[in-house]
Amino acid sequence: MDHFELHHGVLHAEHVPLTVIADAVGTPVYVYSRATLTRHARVFRDALAILPQVRIAYAIKANPNLAVLKVLAAEGYGADVVSGGEMERALAAGMDPDSVVFSGVGKTAAEMRRAIEAGIGQFNIESEEEGVELAAVAAAMGQTATAVLRVNPDVDAGTHGKISTGKAENKFGVPFDRAADIYMRLAATPGIAMRGLALHIGSQLASLAPLEAAFTKIGGLMRAIRGAGHTVTHMDLGGGIGVPYKAGDEYPSPADYAAMVARVTAGWDAVLMFEPGRVIAGNTGVLLTRVIRVKQGAANPFVVVDAAMNDLARPALYDAWHDFVAVSPSGERMLGNIVGPICESSDTFAMGREIDRVVAGDLAVFRTAGAYGATMASTYNSRALVPEVMVDGARWAVVADRIEPATILAAERVPEWLD
Ligand SMILES: *Cc1c(COP(=O)(O)O)cnc(C)c1O
Repeated sequence: MDHFELHHGVLHAEHVPLTVIADAVGTPVYVYSRATLTRHARVFRDALAILPQVRIAYAIKANPNLAVLKVLAAEGYGADVVSGGEMERALAAGMDPDSVVFSGVGKTAAEMRRAIEAGIGQFNIESEEEGVELAAVAAAMGQTATAVLRVNPDVDAGTHGKISTGKAENKFGVPFDRAADIYMRLAATPGIAMRGLALHIGSQLASLAPLEAAFTKIGGLMRAIRGAGHTVTHMDLGGGIGVPYKAGDEYPSPADYAAMVARVTAGWDAVLMFEPGRVIAGNTGVLLTRVIRVKQGAANPFVVVDAAMNDLARPALYDAWHDFVAVSPSGERMLGNIVGPICESSDTFAMGREIDRVVAGDLAVFRTAGAYGATMASTYNSRALVPEVMVDGARWAVVADRIEPATILAAERVPEWLD
């Protein structure tokens, strides 16, 4: 459910016609609905309330916009960060450092130091080498870093290969059969306090079965480690729940997910941690674009829009589907290929799709673009960095400026030996 609906024939974000935003800010532009974001945050949190001890760390990489983080911080969310930059965003949004989890295979010593200084609550370490380095960094500061060990459960998430993270061949976590030994060696290392296990098997999961298999496996590992005399108080179950990108698609609900987690984790006696990203942010945004022209094609016409793969990379990266709807639909339909202006054939949003009939100058949106949208934007083809707007009822604000090509050009230097 979201708050992007037609009123009097014009698509609105809450009470604001998208035509108003396009006229004021220009296109392409991401538009987020605060009410939708709040709703998703609450539905997820309330679903998990059936579990005894829960902490939710929103995966910032899905949508790191500061205004988005402010809304989630107010809903009691912590953050899962994967870089020093994301950590600074979480802190800038006023999130409690203790509620921040630092994940990622490539944390540098400098990032570790900064995170310890800032009081980040938990490091999710992804290798024994990283654990040893973290322990040394913390010990040199006279501190002890709190950590959990990310395990690779070797479970097929059944999602796109590029967003699968829990198969043995993926770079994430430590191999399942070596995890207990690594945990116990690190637990005996000064400078690091091991308190649990973590996993995250992939993104945009359409089924709960792989998650259930992974949770069952890691539960067994938890018991084995406890059986060897070590404490395990925190179990981080990651993110990954998918969202429907195509009208009519069915995905597991947060309530289904929570019921599965409750069943699998009964008797665990551990704090359960969650790192949702897409399921919180996906539905809260659209990418608003204008049709530049409609060009005759060999089969179907090409609808050339002013948004491109640099603004929304998911179709080019993962063959992802985003529903495309006109802002002022006439009711007529057409078959079209939706493409951006970039000089790459992968700059294609859809081929031979039945869509609202559009002509040059019309506005349209790509739906469900709130997660892994603006955050992946680039300036490829010397295009502007796409701006972001948040709507709240009848008011709205630009929450990220459009960064013009001239600003980027101004940051480049020609050495004098080329002049
Ligand atoms: C990306 C990521 C998430 C969030 O994944 P979603 O599919 O957006 O829920 C959670 N945890 C880690 C470690 C991640 O890398």
